[in-house]
Amino acid sequence: TAKILDGKALAARMREEIRLEADQLASKHGRKPGLAVIIVGNDPASHVYVKNKKIGCEKAGIHSFSHELSADTSQQHLLGLITELNNDPKVDGILVQLPVPDHINSEVILEAIDPGKDVDGFHPYNVGRLASRKPALRSCTPYGCMKLLEETGIDLHGKECVIVGASNIVGRPMALELLLVGATVTVTHRFSKNLRSHIERAEIIIAAAGKQGLIQGEWIKPGAIVVDVGIHRREDGSLTGDVEFEEASKNAGWITPVPGGVGPMTITMLLANTVQAFKTHVGD
Ligand code: NAD
Repeated sequence: TAKILDGKALAARMREEIRLEADQLASKHGRKPGLAVIIVGNDPASHVYVKNKKIGCEKAGIHSFSHELSADTSQQHLLGLITELNNDPKVDGILVQLPVPDHINSEVILEAIDPGKDVDGFHPYNVGRLASRKPALRSCTPYGCMKLLEETGIDLHGKECVIVGASNIVGRPMALELLLVGATVTVTHRFSKNLRSHIERAEIIIAAAGKQGLIQGEWIKPGAIVVDVGIHRREDGSLTGDVEFEEASKNAGWITPVPGGVGPMTITMLLANTVQAFKTHVGD
């Protein structure tokens, strides 16, 4: 049966290291790294994510600046706030929690953030840097998946990787991360045919379709590494992913649990990016 790729444990170790570094930087430069978090509207799930990000910051020695805006905030007002934060020397990272209300164009918002403060790694500049093999700030979920893959100690050169999902925040940057380390990459998406045949030949599977149980355990090649990005809430309140975990565990060499796999790594990489941005700003 598969070994567990324990994101919770890795995240805890990394957050400890981030805290040590943030504390050292704070005593050297007289201020903590700072992350500005903007949320627009009342989406309950978004408020939970933002709260967890703020708690993560506090525990890691990062100052968080909170901007909670009402659902009817205009795009112009939001752009004004971003300009202010771009110019604020105490702010190293800026995060706009998605989704924003429909009357706001999220692309315009994301492109207004100073790329040097874009700790979510969504700005086209940072995506372009990753695409051209000179990564700067990298998107948190794929970056966290790479840290999990590193934990296996397996050489990724030439590995057959199949990514399920091609979104801007997970699938696409994941493909760029895997290319960067020399893997062979297939990206499948909603128009792909015969998902099963792709999965069956994969040595590494990144599941990020947002479809509960889409990937069946019996499709998994013996010894494959399975990283499950999907998060779904079952009727009993428990969480599950895009992969049939029990069945997949019989074939896989390594597998991430849901919860406790990719989830804790995403916020961890946000904290790491904020410290990285701070170091760039202070020239350390
Ligand atoms: P999305 O809806 O933006 O993108 C889903 C992608 O999957 C699309 O490219 C779509 O074409 C593809 N897809 C849909 N059905 C498919 C199928 N049958 N076969 C192959 N591809 C298919 O979703 P997203 O924002 O990328 O998130 C994906 C999942 O990951 C969601 O469950 C989300 O909750 C989760 N997520 C988790 C974290 C984390 O930190 N763990 C972070 C981001 C997203």
